[in-house]
Amino acid sequence: MIQQTLYNNIFDSHSHYDGYSFDCDRDTLLSEMFSSCVSGIIHCATDLPSCEYGIKYSAKYPHYYTAIGIHPEHIFDMPDDYIQRLEEMLPRSEKIVAVGEIGLDYHYDDHDREKQLELFISQLEFAAKHSLPVIIHSRDATEDTMKLLRKYRPTGVLHCFSGSYETACEVISLGMYIGFTGALTFKNNKKASRALEAVPMDRLLLETDCPYMAPDGYRGQRSESAMIYRVAEKVAEVKGVDPQSVLDITAENAKRLFGIQSIPTD
Ligand SMILES: [Zn+2]
Repeated sequence: MIQQTLYNNIFDSHSHYDGYSFDCDRDTLLSEMFSSCVSGIIHCATDLPSCEYGIKYSAKYPHYYTAIGIHPEHIFDMPDDYIQRLEEMLPRSEKIVAVGEIGLDYHYDDHDREKQLELFISQLEFAAKHSLPVIIHSRDATEDTMKLLRKYRPTGVLHCFSGSYETACEVISLGMYIGFTGALTFKNNKKASRALEAVPMDRLLLETDCPYMAPDGYRGQRSESAMIYRVAEKVAEVKGVDPQSVLDITAENAKRLFGIQSIPTD
């Protein structure tokens, strides 16, 4: 892991340590981070094998939790009975804390929007049925995402927020949380800093989206939860508070949103 001894209590509310780039050192890295500066990590599943990874690995580490769900990029390779398969996973682990990563991605023209909407809506309904928060991905799809948030009113987080100040205000008014990744620290990302101004401290989450989105200072590298201190420093600068209190508050926010206090750690 990277060396940083300035900060502790980092809670990474959005990670993908099942990525192949962690195959060489996954357990070493997770063990080192959990025994030093990281107090919690949530795995966000992207397809059914990724859900299985989350169930297996969250059982290995006391402060590792998992979301289960199908990411919009997997509309082409998921089974028809995916909701039933997700339902069957729920009783297998008390560390399933959310439905995610779900949402809409209109970045590529060849992605079937009708099918994405169907997949997203069915998982919003699944989350509501089981009273679970959602972890939402929205890329170039703000209008449709907001329409569905207004209609279904889920609890949860809009992750890797890239929208406007106005959209952030509406997401907050709907009762949701907003997550920022290393992208917040990029020098040309004034829009994200502006959107952050709309987010009260008690609705903010910090995340890596690792292995992607390494913050400024580590750009081009594989990202990891320990790097989140850079995002906290940026938040501290915008909000006029100290970085450690940003980490402490966002860790509490994540535990509250995902109901983590009630899960035993032994
Ligand atoms: Zn993600």
